[in-house]
Amino acid sequence: MITLLKNAQLYSPAPLGSQDLLIADGRIQAIGPELKVELPNHCFEVIDAHGQIVAPGFVDALVHLLGGGGEAGFGSRTPELHFDEVARSGVTTLIGALGTDSITRTPEQLLGKARELTALGVTAYCYTGSYHLPLKTITGSVERDLLLIPEVIGIGEVAISDHRASHAPLSDFAQQVSQARVGGMLAGKGGVSFFHVGDGAGRLEPLRTLLNISDIPITQLYPTHCNRNSELFTDALAFLAEGGAIDLTTSTLPQYQQQGEVACGAGLAQVLEQGLDWRRVTFSSDANASLPLFDEQGRTIRVECGRIASLYEAVVGAVQHHQVPLEIALSTITQNPADILGLCHKGRIAENCDADLVLIEPDSLAITRVLAKGKTIWQA
Ligand code: ZN
Repeated sequence: MITLLKNAQLYSPAPLGSQDLLIADGRIQAIGPELKVELPNHCFEVIDAHGQIVAPGFVDALVHLLGGGGEAGFGSRTPELHFDEVARSGVTTLIGALGTDSITRTPEQLLGKARELTALGVTAYCYTGSYHLPLKTITGSVERDLLLIPEVIGIGEVAISDHRASHAPLSDFAQQVSQARVGGMLAGKGGVSFFHVGDGAGRLEPLRTLLNISDIPITQLYPTHCNRNSELFTDALAFLAEGGAIDLTTSTLPQYQQQGEVACGAGLAQVLEQGLDWRRVTFSSDANASLPLFDEQGRTIRVECGRIASLYEAVVGAVQHHQVPLEIALSTITQNPADILGLCHKGRIAENCDADLVLIEPDSLAITRVLAKGKTIWQA
């Protein structure tokens, strides 16, 4: 199918003004004002996006495709992610991860779920491994998983500074991170190591030690939940200044904010105020993770569930409540994560990139239509 999308207010995510897009074979073939198609009308579809913002499909760097938990026993397990929730959220590329439980949820099940979502229209990848070392893999090694399984693009989410982490020697972490890097290099993938950072006092210090004891470049390390409290966020800004990338989690609970969590929009505004590189700042939803509430003794009181819709809601919050320019807010869920993860055909609107597009009503910033690989997967 050939599609001509006309009169888009294009955010690539950089603002490019009014443009037409020609889409064929699931990819963007041409971009320009007033494109013409030399074919009979019945041979192609026209979408008139007049008055609409057209942004790249969103890239969500952390989604618990199989659900997560349950950290208050089996009754607290969170459910699998459904395709309909993905489609309506504007997310067209997502990276699945296991969480605390890698015994009753396995890397094989995660890969199967990623393939299900891809078969239904979006593009789903996964991290191999989980919270704990030694990392659970499909083929027996991180390197083999990266080389032999197309969907595997890195390792994660590996827990540090958390009471649920494996507390293994940092040399063991360095070994896994370097395997991910080498596997990624050989397979032409990012091979990044995605770290779950808890609220432990160590904050991002384990990553700095890891860099000190190895020759691993800082660009291979990608820590998430960096906004979970103000101390960690301050340390994350330092890590960003040192050349690292940081990810902020959009799924939240009112109690987390009362306990000092930094809202994603407020965090992004601080990055801009301090003149730090916003291109290495990303948001991810942590969708379908269990969001536990602990008491002072570390006992789980209650477990809630992360939402994929929170990803774009945080972008809207950044624009409407923290005066972040739309193109910068959009970058945190499009080009920035795509660049950090090594997904060069995702997260941007450019010729030869996948035709993953989100149409947005400019006043309310509400999503009106979502295309993945050139096909409409959701419409308001
Ligand atoms: Zn996590």
